[in-house]
Amino acid sequence: MRTSQPRTIYLKDYKVPPYLVDHVDLRFELFEEGARVYNSMEIRRNPEADPGQPLELDGEGLELEGLTLNGLPLAPSDFEVTSGGLRVEKVSDAFTLGVVTWILPQDNTRLEGLYKSSGMFCTQCEAEGFRWITYFPDRPDVMARFRTRVEADKARYPILLSNGNDVDRGELEDGRHFVTWEDPFPKPCYLFALVAGDLTEKKDTFTTQSGREIDLRMYVEPRNAAKCDHALDSLKRSMRWDEQIYGREYDLDIFMIVAVDDFNMGAMENKGLNIFNSSCVLATPDTATDMAFQRIEAIVAHEYFHNWSGNRVTCRDWFQLSLKEGFTVFRDSQFSADMGSPTVKRIEDATLLRTAQFAEDSGPMAHPVRPDSYIEISNFYTLTVYEKGAEVVRMIHTLLGEEDFRKGSDLYFQRHDGQAVTTDDFVKAMEEASGRDLGQFRLWYQQAGTPVVDVTDHYDEQAKTYTLTLSQKVPPTPGQSEKKPQHIPFAIGLIGEHGSDLPLKLGADDAEAPTQRILDLTESEQTFVFHDVAERPVPSLLRGFSAPVKVRYPWSRDQLLFLMSHDSDGFNRWDAGQRLAVDVIQSMVGQPQEQTVDPRLVTAFRQLLSDTELDQALVAKMLQLPSEAYLIELADVADVQAIHSARTRVLNQLALELQGELMACYLRNREDGAYEPTPEAIARRSLKNTALSWLLHINDEEARQMALKQFDSATNMTDQSGALRSLVNSDFEADRTQALDAFYDRFSNDPQVVEQWFSIQAGSPRAGTLSAVEALLEHPAFDWKNPNKIRSVIGAFAGQNLANFHAEDGSGYRFLAKHILSLDSSNPQIAARLVAPLTRWRNYGEVYREGMRAALEQIQAKPDLSKDVYEVVHKSLKD
Ligand SMILES: [Zn+2]
Repeated sequence: MRTSQPRTIYLKDYKVPPYLVDHVDLRFELFEEGARVYNSMEIRRNPEADPGQPLELDGEGLELEGLTLNGLPLAPSDFEVTSGGLRVEKVSDAFTLGVVTWILPQDNTRLEGLYKSSGMFCTQCEAEGFRWITYFPDRPDVMARFRTRVEADKARYPILLSNGNDVDRGELEDGRHFVTWEDPFPKPCYLFALVAGDLTEKKDTFTTQSGREIDLRMYVEPRNAAKCDHALDSLKRSMRWDEQIYGREYDLDIFMIVAVDDFNMGAMENKGLNIFNSSCVLATPDTATDMAFQRIEAIVAHEYFHNWSGNRVTCRDWFQLSLKEGFTVFRDSQFSADMGSPTVKRIEDATLLRTAQFAEDSGPMAHPVRPDSYIEISNFYTLTVYEKGAEVVRMIHTLLGEEDFRKGSDLYFQRHDGQAVTTDDFVKAMEEASGRDLGQFRLWYQQAGTPVVDVTDHYDEQAKTYTLTLSQKVPPTPGQSEKKPQHIPFAIGLIGEHGSDLPLKLGADDAEAPTQRILDLTESEQTFVFHDVAERPVPSLLRGFSAPVKVRYPWSRDQLLFLMSHDSDGFNRWDAGQRLAVDVIQSMVGQPQEQTVDPRLVTAFRQLLSDTELDQALVAKMLQLPSEAYLIELADVADVQAIHSARTRVLNQLALELQGELMACYLRNREDGAYEPTPEAIARRSLKNTALSWLLHINDEEARQMALKQFDSATNMTDQSGALRSLVNSDFEADRTQALDAFYDRFSNDPQVVEQWFSIQAGSPRAGTLSAVEALLEHPAFDWKNPNKIRSVIGAFAGQNLANFHAEDGSGYRFLAKHILSLDSSNPQIAARLVAPLTRWRNYGEVYREGMRAALEQIQAKPDLSKDVYEVVHKSLKD
C-alpha cells in the first residue's frame, strides 16, 4: 500500500490565480541526450486575488539550471524547489522571471510534456503536461501570449513547429537551425505544442467566408505521404461547416496537423498545430475501413471546432472540462449527421452512450458532467464529460430550437472571447439569448447517474383520451445519495392501428395537433392527457433519444414488431428492434441449449433482410444484434458466460433460419468499381459483411468460399478486414491461420493496419483465447511503449472479447492486473484506463466478482502506485 494518500482537489476550493502571465518567451534547444528550455515570463499580480501570496509555479521531473528575477540571478535562499513545483516568497507587482530547465524527452514514456515518438520530438500538454517542460502556473485560467523559438540539428529535424505564425528562421553553428513562432492569441499552457522531425509536408489552402486565404499543412512521416487526403478534405469541410452553422471563421494564417505514432489520446487541439494519433488521421481506402474514414472525419472536425469552443473560449478550471468537450462533441456530431445519415449517427451515439456511459454512470467512478472533485484529472476524460456532456448541450438545442440556440452560441462566443469560463457561463448565455429558464436544467451538470423514466398509460375509449404518466428517478451514485428531479425533454409520438402517427392534442382546446411533441418532464411524476385520440395507440417514446435516460414501458413483443415496421422515427424503429432482440436474448439466458428463438424475431429479421425500400444504412444498423457489453450493462447481476451463450444461440438460429436471405443480401450488395465513402456505399458494405459474418458463424461452406474470394480480391480495407474478421471468428481454423498470415505479410510495414490485425484477433471469442493473446504480446510488431498496440491487444481483449476475458477461472483478470501493474510505472494514463473493465465488479455474478476484486486488490497493493491508477482502483474497492 502507498503510505500517503494522494490529494483530492475540490471544485469548491477554486480561487482565482494569484499571478497572471501576460507573455511567455520560450527557447528550446533540442539534443539527442536531452533538451534545454529557456522560459522568460512577464508576470503580474492578479488584482482580483488576495494580496501578499507567494509566487508558486508548477513543475514535475525538471532539472533547474537557472533562475532570474528581472534579469538578476536569485539566491538559493530566495526560492524553494518543492515536490510539485517552485516557490518564490517575495516578488513585486510586476516582474520578469527567467527559468532554465533541462529535461529528458528521449526517456519520457508517460507521453505527457515533451517526448520522442519514432525519432521526432512532440508534445502533449493537456491537461497538466506543460509542468513537465518548464515551471509555469499550469492551470487553464492563466492565459498568455507565447513566442517560441525551436533549435535543433537541421539534418535530423528539418521541420520545426509550434503554435501561431512562423515569424523568423535561420541557420546556427554546428549544422543546427532555428524557427521562431508567435501566437497572437492568449492561451493556457495546455494548448502549447512543439514538433521537430524529418517530416513530409502536404499543402492545401482554404479561403474563409471573409476571403482570407489560409495555408493548410499536414506533416507526416515520409512513408505516410499518401495517407493525408482524407484528413485534409475533412478539414476543409469542417472549416466551411463551422462558418455556415456557427458563423465561426478561422483566425490564424496557417493551420497545421501532425500525425504521431505514440500518443495517449486520439488527438489534441493545440492552437494552430493539432497533433493527432496516427490511427485517427491517416487513411487510404486500402488501409482504412469505412468506420475509420468516418472516425477520422469526425475527429478532424472535433479538433478544428475546438479553435472556438475550447481555444478562443477556454475552461476556467478542469472541473469545467465539459464546457469545451461536451459542446465540441455536440458540434462534431451535428457535423457528422450533416455529412452522412442523421439517423445512423444518432444510433451510433446512443449505442455508445447506453453501453459504455450508462455503465460508467452506474459504477464506482460515476461523476457529474461537471465533477466536484478529482485526484488525477486525466481520469476525467470520460464518456460522462464528453458524450453525456454533448447530450446535455443537445437537450439545450432541443429546448431552445435551432434559431435561439445559434443566438445563444453567438452570445457565448462574443461575450467570452479570450476568457476562461465555466459551464454555468455557457448556460447563462443560452438563457439570456432565448429567454428560457434553464434553472432546473442545470442539474444535468451537477447530478451523476442515469435518470430512469417509468411510463404507464391509459386509453379511455369513451372519452377518447389517452393518458401518459411519466415518473423519473435518478439512482444514487457515490457521494450523491439524494437526487432531485431533472428537466427532461421527452419526445413522443402515438401510432395508430394502421401504422400512422396520430395528431397530439394536449388539452381539449389545444389548437395545434402536431404528430410529435416534446414533453417537458420536470417533476418526479407528471401526467399528460391527449384528446380526440380516435383509437388505442402504441406509444413511441423518447423519439430520437431526446434525453440520455432509460425508459421503461411494458411493450409487448407484438407492439415492438409493430414499431419496428411502422414508427416514423427512424431511431425508434431501430430501438424497437433492439428492445425485441434484448427481450428474446434475456429470456434465453440460463435456459437449455434446445430452447428455440421466438419465431417473431426471425420474421422481423427476414423482413429487414429483404427490405430494399428502407434506408439501407438504417437496415444495416437494425441487423446488428445488441452487443454483449450492452446486455451486461442491462443485467442486474451479470452472468457473462450465460449471456454470451444465449446471444450466440440467437445468432446461430437466426443465421440458420435466414441462410437464403443472408446469401441473397450478400450477393445483392456485392459491388465492383472504385471505392467511395458515401453513406450508400458504406451501408452496402456493412450489409454485405454482416451477412457474411452470420453465414460463417454457422460454417456455411458457400459463404466460406465467398469470404476467401472477398479476402483475396478486396479493393478496400472494409471488405478485406470484413472477410478476415468473419474467417477469424469462424470454425475454419486452417483458413483463419492462412488469412491472418497473408494479411500480416501484406501490411507488416503499416502500423495502423497491424493494429487492426492485432485487435481482430484479440477481440475474437474464437481466436482470442488468453494464450493466443499472450502470444500476440510477444509478436515482433508489438511495442509496450506504443499505446495503440496496447489498446489493440490488451484493450481489445478486455473490452470486446468478453467471454474469454471473463473466464470463470479468473485468468483474464489476473492477466489484466499483471499488465496494469507493469504499465503503471511507464505510462500511468494508459494503465489507469485499462482498469475500467474491472471497476464494476459488484454488478457481476459471484464467480466473476471475486476474481475481479482480487485483481483490483493486487493492483492496489503495489507500492508507489501512480495517482492515476490509485484513484480508479481505490474508488472501485471503496464500500
Ligand atoms: Zn476535445
